Amino acid sequence: MTKVVKFGGSSLASAEQFKKVADIIHAEDSRRYVVPSAPGKRFSADTKVTDMLYACYDLAAKGKNFDEAFDKIKERYTSIIEELGLDLDMTEEFSIVKACFIGKAGRDYAASRGEYLNGIVLANYLKYEFIDAADVIYFKDSGEFDAERTNKAMKERLAGIERAVIPGFYGSMPNDTIKTFSRGGSDITGSIVAAAVGADIYENWTDVSGFLISDPRIVKDPLPITTITYKELRELSYMGATVLHEDAIFPVRKAGIPINIKNTNAPMDQGTMIVESTSQKPPFTITGIAGKKGFTVVNIEKDMMNSELGFGRKVLEVFEKNGISFEHMPSGIDTMSIVVHQSEFEPKEQEILSGLHRNVHPDTIDIETDLALIAIVGRAMKSARGTAGRIFSALAHAHVNVKMIDQGSSELNIIVGVAESDFEAAIKSIYEIFVVHQL
Ligand code: ASP
Repeated sequence: MTKVVKFGGSSLASAEQFKKVADIIHAEDSRRYVVPSAPGKRFSADTKVTDMLYACYDLAAKGKNFDEAFDKIKERYTSIIEELGLDLDMTEEFSIVKACFIGKAGRDYAASRGEYLNGIVLANYLKYEFIDAADVIYFKDSGEFDAERTNKAMKERLAGIERAVIPGFYGSMPNDTIKTFSRGGSDITGSIVAAAVGADIYENWTDVSGFLISDPRIVKDPLPITTITYKELRELSYMGATVLHEDAIFPVRKAGIPINIKNTNAPMDQGTMIVESTSQKPPFTITGIAGKKGFTVVNIEKDMMNSELGFGRKVLEVFEKNGISFEHMPSGIDTMSIVVHQSEFEPKEQEILSGLHRNVHPDTIDIETDLALIAIVGRAMKSARGTAGRIFSALAHAHVNVKMIDQGSSELNIIVGVAESDFEAAIKSIYEIFVVHQL
């Protein structure tokens, strides 16, 4: 059995956290490949090392004095090293990094040092081999991740190595400069390593016990999701539920490896299992609820629209020409509604309106702003009758007016549109009816 274990920034923010991480790793022999993030926040007003590095590098790039900012970063590592009592001298490493800052090695290089240095510390502490991600993770000239080359190199490199630490977040370009993934990208590295070594499971350790059914800022103490499929997760993450970087799914999913989200501060909690498919019956009809504010609906009305060939295409053409992608498109016999992101739509509003008038000669166009979309997601909805009915009665009880509804043909999700001012009440009422009332 082989597990790849990734630890997020808060799991490695201090010596105390490092100890928890080592306990977790030592608890199971199968936890052989470890992917660390850079040290994160120790308390809520603290600054992540990655952010300190960006800020420090920006000073350096402007030719300003960055000694103080650099020393603060150094201090984050030295305090961990000292408190853990490690026999590790990083003076040389730090002077190389400093010289590269002066030599303007780039923002990506700067940010990547957070993981690089943390990887060295963690490898020393665990007595695992350290492997620089620059030697095993590659990008193409275009900046795209080079999955094939990486997979091959990673496989070869790890083949003879029993236990290793591979820092997250970065890799190298064909010209040997350093490039990072987007923020939160250590999740991607973990997934890549898991796929390359053919791990049985990819454990992603963070500071929450997995995904919650709903946003804890809206619903008080929502229950965790024990098992979720990749498809359900995608629907929920699209609507803003974040625990895992979206691009982290692809490598493991392709290799059929499940992801287990676990909590470093509560390792006994089961966490959330993310799987391709499961026969496990979910405890509730819905798996999760997520939502986003900031949408606009453009309602187009025209008598006999339904019999006008190419009407929909002509409408969408206007949006496409203006570079606006639409989120949803519910329609009636003589009406068609296009849901778009408000911030994208606003600057193009007049062009789109005149384009619509020109292209389809509508009777009326009416624009509604400040809409929130809520996705109610669940693989069990397919076999449950009356789900939509229950959603509507919950919303009616909460005095929420439903402005739009859209059910995907996969029956995996139902999207409802409500006024932004009703957003929180709507989510609470849906959670109540499907979870609280079902307990
Ligand atoms: N340290 C990087 C960030 O803050 C990458 C990561 O933590 O996954 O975005």
